[in-house]
Formats: sequence, structure tokens, C-alpha cells
Amino acid sequence: MIYKWVEDTMFGRKMKISFSQAVEATHWLLITVGERQWAGYFAKHRNGQTDGFRSVYGGMGSFNDLIICRANKHQIETNHEPLANQLLGSLSSICYATSLRGDLTAPEALEACGTVGHELEGCRCRECGHSQVSPADLNAFAAYYDVAMAIQSGITNGAFLESIQTLWARFDSDDNVSRFRLNAERSGISFSENTGWMSPCPKCGSADTCVYRWDFDVRGFTPSKDNLAMKNR
Ligand SMILES: [Zn+2]
Repeated sequence: MIYKWVEDTMFGRKMKISFSQAVEATHWLLITVGERQWAGYFAKHRNGQTDGFRSVYGGMGSFNDLIICRANKHQIETNHEPLANQLLGSLSSICYATSLRGDLTAPEALEACGTVGHELEGCRCRECGHSQVSPADLNAFAAYYDVAMAIQSGITNGAFLESIQTLWARFDSDDNVSRFRLNAERSGISFSENTGWMSPCPKCGSADTCVYRWDFDVRGFTPSKDNLAMKNR
């Protein structure tokens, strides 16, 4: 018995997230930001009842259309908006997947979340290759990265809600920017406080600039596959 416990908890091999745990965390997020209408809907499914649950996904004015922000009268700091919406998207995907397929392991849950927002997005000059990202770009990327980490550790440690709550309490946009700024600069991406569109290019003056995306791994940021090609390269 003790071996089973060790295997289940210490190595996380069998740890999974259930539908009711996913609904509980989503409900907590909705209550925390003051989204009473949808919190009420999720409250009805906290007991694990999946009947009719997926009917709110899809169609006009559906749960998928919800955006958490101050403009929608949610009780939230502006700096927490990227985190709130990244969490909302990921948690709602896990609720949907667990209602359909039952309990999920951490890799299965992350796969269910898809890849939306998983890349660092900034601007790049097609003429000289100069790249830059803003504090908002880094904060949005940090939200994706930290949500994925919190989901992973929450499921493998068997403490999903606590993991999400800890992330929410500790999320700090200034810290996010400094954490990923160094990584970006090491990967040849400049940092700029200017959040507007980069045109003309501050390095060569060309107006031929575009949105550009980078994947992140142990080596740092590398250009994603779906970018526009650079000229002269
Ligand atoms: Zn340039």
C-alpha cells in the first residue's frame, strides 16, 4: 500500500485531474474576478455531474466568448489580465476534455489546452532582421509559461486548486518581464518599453516590419515555423 502511495504521489505517474477538480478551479477563478453569472453555472457541476455541461461551449454569447478584463467590469488588476485569460482558456479546455474523456494525466491535460498563446510574440524587421519585444509581450508569454507549469505541478502533486491559487497570488508582471527579458536578449531579441507597432525599424529605418513569434525551450527563444521569411537571408 505504501509503495502504491509513493508511486502515485512521489513520481506522479498515476496522478490525474478529474472533471470536478477542473470545475472547482475554474469556479474559483470566476469567483475571484467577480464573474458571478458563469461562476453560478460552474457551481452546479462541482459535484462531478457532466450532464449538459458542454452545452455552454459554442454559439453566440457562449462561455468561450468570455474575456476577463477591467473593461468588462471584472475585479482585477490590469497586470493580471493576461494571466486571468490564459488560465480561463486552459481551465475551460481541461473541463471540456475531462467531461468528455474522464480523468487526465498532466501531459494529457496540457495537450487538451492546445498551443494558443504558447509563443513569445513581438516585431521583426524583414530588411535587417532586428527583433524587439515589449513588457506586455513578455508578460503575456510569462502567463502562458507559468500556467502550463502550474497545471503540470498541480496535477502531479495532487494539489491542483492550490497550485492555481499560488500562481495567482505570486504572479508579478515586473518580475515576469525581468525573468524573460534576459532570455530574450540572449536569443538576440531586443527589449523595448515601446508597446506600439515597430515601424520604421529603429536599426535600419525600413518600414518593412512584421509580427514575429518565437518558441521557448532550454536553449532560449528560437523563431517559430509559421513566421514570414526575412529578406536577404
Ligand atoms: Zn531593420
